[in-house]
Amino acid sequence: MSNLFYQGRGRKRVLDQARGVYMWDKNGRRYLDGSSGAMVCNIGHSNENVLAAMQRQMEKSTFGYRLHFETEASERLAARLAGKMPGGLNRVFFVSGGSEAVETAIKLARQHALAIGEGSRWKIISRAPSYHGCTLGALATTGYAPLTEPFEPLMRVMPKIPAPRAYLDGLDPADPETGRHYADMLAARIEAEGADSVLGFIVEPVGGASTGALVPPEGYLERVRAICDDYGVLMIMDEVMTGAGRTGAFLGGDHWGVRPDIVVMSKGIGSGYAPLGAMIADDRLVGPVLDAGGFAHGFTYAGNPLACAAGLAVLEEIDRQDLCGNAAVMGDRLLARLHGLMQRHEIIGDVRGKGLLTAFEFMADRVTGAPLPRALNAYQRFVDIAYDRGLIVYSRRTRDGIDGDHVLVCPPLILNESHIDEIIDGLD
Ligand code: PLP
Repeated sequence: MSNLFYQGRGRKRVLDQARGVYMWDKNGRRYLDGSSGAMVCNIGHSNENVLAAMQRQMEKSTFGYRLHFETEASERLAARLAGKMPGGLNRVFFVSGGSEAVETAIKLARQHALAIGEGSRWKIISRAPSYHGCTLGALATTGYAPLTEPFEPLMRVMPKIPAPRAYLDGLDPADPETGRHYADMLAARIEAEGADSVLGFIVEPVGGASTGALVPPEGYLERVRAICDDYGVLMIMDEVMTGAGRTGAFLGGDHWGVRPDIVVMSKGIGSGYAPLGAMIADDRLVGPVLDAGGFAHGFTYAGNPLACAAGLAVLEEIDRQDLCGNAAVMGDRLLARLHGLMQRHEIIGDVRGKGLLTAFEFMADRVTGAPLPRALNAYQRFVDIAYDRGLIVYSRRTRDGIDGDHVLVCPPLILNESHIDEIIDGLD
């Protein structure tokens, strides 16, 4: 009996080592990591340049408390990240994960509103379904009732608008029930809440965390940006899963040229080498907060030098190997092969994605999008068979009956053609 307390129920594979796109368990069985952990290991496992950079940092220092010291590693990583942000987003606050990054964005948004005399604004609108993390602040913006309900006495669940229906794959920008463009529901929701009370809107550029590689419909993010501007609402882009090259551009939002007010990142910038996250804003937001007495927020491990050295080396690898470009090319090829898989398997009702954030969804009817009966447990059977064939993929159950059970296929961005063959063999 293990003393570890997991959410999972009784999977007992023990990881021994991992290299590139492969992982080996204690019995010496090899698996292709088709989910990059949880869309984390973008540059692949055990990259020698990253390990060497971490070794060099370990020999210098492994900890420096932020209030006493900045470190060269955090300064350089902040500069490199800022250089990859859309215009003028240049103030970086490091944390140790995605939930902390979202939490930090919420705190900055709120303190900015207070600092500029707009203290009536406190609501952060998000979408349902969605996932933005599990700390109470981040959870309040998460659109998935089973996760939020138990904690409602401890936090206020924030208002939600519907996410576009997944299986339409961006073809139809209007909700079939209301006939309205999905983005316009944000304006309606802001009006309904009282425009003066709304602080921000948080959204993933490509819905990864709960909608399975949901590419936004035509014009969606651009309209959201315009609506946020009209109402003085901050646009917070959650790039925790989509960032660091995953979708074939450094940020998912780059595909649509949309500049948010705040970007939050994590997974891919640490790429599994160290717990790392970041919130990136600009002086317009940060300045008034600092002038008003400082940012009332922080974590002991914020800007940890070892994590920052790892992050810097990860970003260097992303550029050196042009992993954004490779994710775009390999993503198109993988998506085409997954479409082929859909032709051969009737229960696959939709295939979608951007770059190497791809997914397929199970459904009973491709036209109506009716989900498969739960009892079939199709997603679990697919995943189990894939495991037996040496392929790890990431599966999600239906959330609130809004979207279907789906399997995310999100391998490391160092993927090549023969890896794609192996993935398809594992799923077919
Ligand atoms: N935001 C998104 C979009 C995520 O996918 C996740 C995690 O899956 C988070 C936030 C929370 O990140 P973490 O698990 O590192 O706290």
